[in-house]
Amino acid sequence: MKISEQKQHFKKQLSGLFPSEEIQSFFNILSEKYLNLSRIEIALNPDRKISETEAEKFQRALLRLKNHEPIQYIIGETEFYGLPFKVNKHTLIPRPETEELVEWILSEQKLTTHYSLLTTILDIGTGSGCIAISLAKNLPNSKISALDISEEALKIARENAETNKVEVDFFQTDILVAETLPKKYNVIVSNPPYVRELEKKQMQQNVLKYEPDSALYVSNEDPLLFYRVISQLAKNHLQPNGKLFFEINEYLADELTDLLKNEGFKNIEIKKDIFGKDRMLKSTLNESAR
Ligand code: GLN
Repeated sequence: MKISEQKQHFKKQLSGLFPSEEIQSFFNILSEKYLNLSRIEIALNPDRKISETEAEKFQRALLRLKNHEPIQYIIGETEFYGLPFKVNKHTLIPRPETEELVEWILSEQKLTTHYSLLTTILDIGTGSGCIAISLAKNLPNSKISALDISEEALKIARENAETNKVEVDFFQTDILVAETLPKKYNVIVSNPPYVRELEKKQMQQNVLKYEPDSALYVSNEDPLLFYRVISQLAKNHLQPNGKLFFEINEYLADELTDLLKNEGFKNIEIKKDIFGKDRMLKSTLNESAR
């Protein structure tokens, strides 16, 4: 089969299920992965033949796309903050909003820390390790630790650290039952589950069907559970002037601000993401709150 025929077949099979630009982008991603050919190379060589084995790979991917499985799980990888990350069904697919959180932390740390001082950072609920690893890669004088409840996620995170040639100390902990953390940090960061059950209606099938529930959802009754537990632990595990960074639910910024004030945090700042939604929070511990 010629590559141009494969493309036609692919488009026909998926039309109606996805917008045409998205189908095009799926095709490009798969060609890059299975044929090692860029979009341009394909356009220049429409008659290039693809083998039976290659055609089978496209066919299997096509069936998975039809079931709304995310392309990142099909190829087993994605990019975050310009770095390659393996992902699978045990890890959330990193979102662009989370890149903005990393960007915020990096700019703050570069402003406030002297390069001669070691910054210690803990990432809670690390998943694929995207936050911890991109911080490690961009903050040379730092010691980064990261925890997750899921051993399967930690396995992927460790592989990602190796691929990206950084050292991160990964360990397994259920933050909801942890009474203490290993030490005191300069920065604690978390992108915990924050989507309320009631918000599932607005979510896409690919997220609902394939991404790990334990990384995403919280009850309607206690949606800030993780934030409460983490901020209480952070009180005893932040260094003087230590900072707490969160990714947050766009609808819960006010409640979360109140919660943190009550726990004794100050300088609470909310930042919007590129879509104009309240998405990140930064705060410092009020020393008298300890
Ligand atoms: N922003 C993610 C989503 O909308 C949710 C991430 C999270 O719950 N921490 O799918």
